[in-house]
Amino acid sequence: RGKRAFIAGVADDNGYGWAIAKSLAQAGAEILVGTWVPALNIFESSLRRGKFDESRKLQDGSLFEIAKVYPLDAVYDTPEDVPEDVKTNKRYAGAKNWTVKEVVESVKNDFGTIDILVHSLANGPEVSKLLSETSRKGYLAALSASSYSYISLLKHFLPIINPGGASLSLTYIASERIIPGYGGGMSSAKAALESDTRVLAFEAGRKKRIRVNTISAGPLGSRAAKAIGFIDTMIDYSFTNAPIQKELNAEEVGNTAAFLASPLASAITGAVIYVDNGLNAMGVGV
Ligand code: NAD
Repeated sequence: RGKRAFIAGVADDNGYGWAIAKSLAQAGAEILVGTWVPALNIFESSLRRGKFDESRKLQDGSLFEIAKVYPLDAVYDTPEDVPEDVKTNKRYAGAKNWTVKEVVESVKNDFGTIDILVHSLANGPEVSKLLSETSRKGYLAALSASSYSYISLLKHFLPIINPGGASLSLTYIASERIIPGYGGGMSSAKAALESDTRVLAFEAGRKKRIRVNTISAGPLGSRAAKAIGFIDTMIDYSFTNAPIQKELNAEEVGNTAAFLASPLASAITGAVIYVDNGLNAMGVGV
């Protein structure tokens, strides 16, 4: 049978999560997605109204299906963790069972198991602040949404990921080099995510032969990136300075994810894989 993938962090057809879903679908996987609760209604209605049909097209002209969209807020592990003001918030009130534990229970009830877990989400409320001006609350929120969310997803999904499966996340080079503008503790969150990738690779590998990798992606004008505010500058910088001078296509990240999730990558785990036209290898901009 084909593989089944759960991709957390898809709310439109512009980001890396969507591109990964599409590449995995192209490779024959069944696709489940986790969509941030406040973005759920607009994502589902856009899907229904055919707004994404052009970008749903596979190579043979057919449209890829999302077998199920699960509301998700990866900042909360269980219903007990959800504060009152979020519970009663209008944007959350309509949806049910969206904490990590509940989503995994729903996936288990609906489908039994998965083979591939993808984490393609990040959030840093103070991303536009300098690290040295970030509040404790903002810093911890960035780590909670962008790093611990991955540990939580993997921890809860692990019992229902089939042995031999694969898990992936998305990171950014601001974890290891100075990228002014990627503030609010987001650089720290990506450093944690990359370090956790190694430790989780060991733990999931020994437990269930599951491989854990992260893709360090170059700049893409996604919704999240536009919110940071410097994405056009980063795209121009990359175009000018990278070894391969071309625009980075989300599909290139999607295809790498499909490779990493496949048996072709059976000996790759605990790795940070750069998909950035080679920009990471440059020492100076030229
Ligand atoms: P995106 O906007 O498509 O994806 C981010 C998603 O995270 C959104 O769908 C958003 O709704 C979701 N999200 C935010 N908080 C959430 C929460 N608490 N629970 C569940 N979902 C939540 O943007 P993207 O740029 O494709 O981001 C995907 C991943 O790629 C992120 O990890 C990002 O850091 C990483 N990345 C992006 C770039 C870039 O230039 N765009 C570069 C390197 C890495």
